[in-house]
Amino acid sequence: MSAACTKCGGPSFYVRRYSGETLCQPCFKASIIEKTRRTIAKFGMLQRGERVGVAVSGGKDSLALLYVLHSLSTGRGYTLISLTVDEGVQGYRDESIRHAAWLAEKLGVEQVVVTYKELYGFDLDQALDWKDERDVSSCSICGIFRRRAIDEAAKRAGITTIATAHNLDDYVQSFMMNLMHGDVDRLGWLDPLVVDQDFPMRRVKPFMEVYEEEVALYAHLSGLPFQSNSCPYMHEGLRSEVRDYVNELEVKHPGMKNVLLNSALQVSARLSTAKAHETIPCAVCGNPSTKGLCNVCRMKRMVEQHTKYSPG
Ligand code: SF4
Ligand code: ZN
Repeated sequence: MSAACTKCGGPSFYVRRYSGETLCQPCFKASIIEKTRRTIAKFGMLQRGERVGVAVSGGKDSLALLYVLHSLSTGRGYTLISLTVDEGVQGYRDESIRHAAWLAEKLGVEQVVVTYKELYGFDLDQALDWKDERDVSSCSICGIFRRRAIDEAAKRAGITTIATAHNLDDYVQSFMMNLMHGDVDRLGWLDPLVVDQDFPMRRVKPFMEVYEEEVALYAHLSGLPFQSNSCPYMHEGLRSEVRDYVNELEVKHPGMKNVLLNSALQVSARLSTAKAHETIPCAVCGNPSTKGLCNVCRMKRMVEQHTKYSPG
């Protein structure tokens, strides 16, 4: 016989080790929605009446985010727009883009799709065609292009706030990796209260206080589809080692991830106010940059130099 749900007394199915709660399915799902609502309120992430872009790749985390925000948006007056980027990876992205389109339609949410091909002249398969000659990872290259692509989709939809599905585990991993690299600027950028006046798009992470395994469980219980294969270029290197290490810590010391999140919040709050970084417009595209050429234009040049493709 399973223990009673701590909240309603019904039969429980899940033990939340870090809090000691035992939860039934409806109370578990309600707790994820409530936690997300509190995170949004605590950090002033979304405003009443606002149009909010949700970056939906079609993976379980982003589908769950759209689903949760949709249930929260009723009565709070904000309108959601699903923003999807098609990087152009043959045999991989089609499935997740189908899932993203399916959920947007089911919820009656407008969807804006942009592709690398239309924005940059090449798709990801083409852009990564110089694997053997570089020391920068595929995901670093892809990430630079994707961030800008999401901004473009947001501009088209007339949105200035973008919600991404980064969860507590992602947040803690980024904190630890930036610490390892001594990247003080990036540590400061983790501060959820930072609003960078130079960048027109504000990014918020409503799942930043929810454990990754709980996002996955929420997605499963909500009947959201899971993608069957992973990106062929995925190479996480250090990040997957950090993930394994943090997971081991959590098993031995339940709640350690929450402790790390709190440390990250304190460190980033100190660093974000310590130094405002100056930007100048990119000489090619006009977006903010630190050295006169933004990351996207720099990476585009590298892709053009090293592959036979050039943007049309
Ligand atoms: Fe891009 Fe890496 Fe994600 Fe593949 S796994 S879509 S290369 S960021
Ligand atoms: Zn540029």
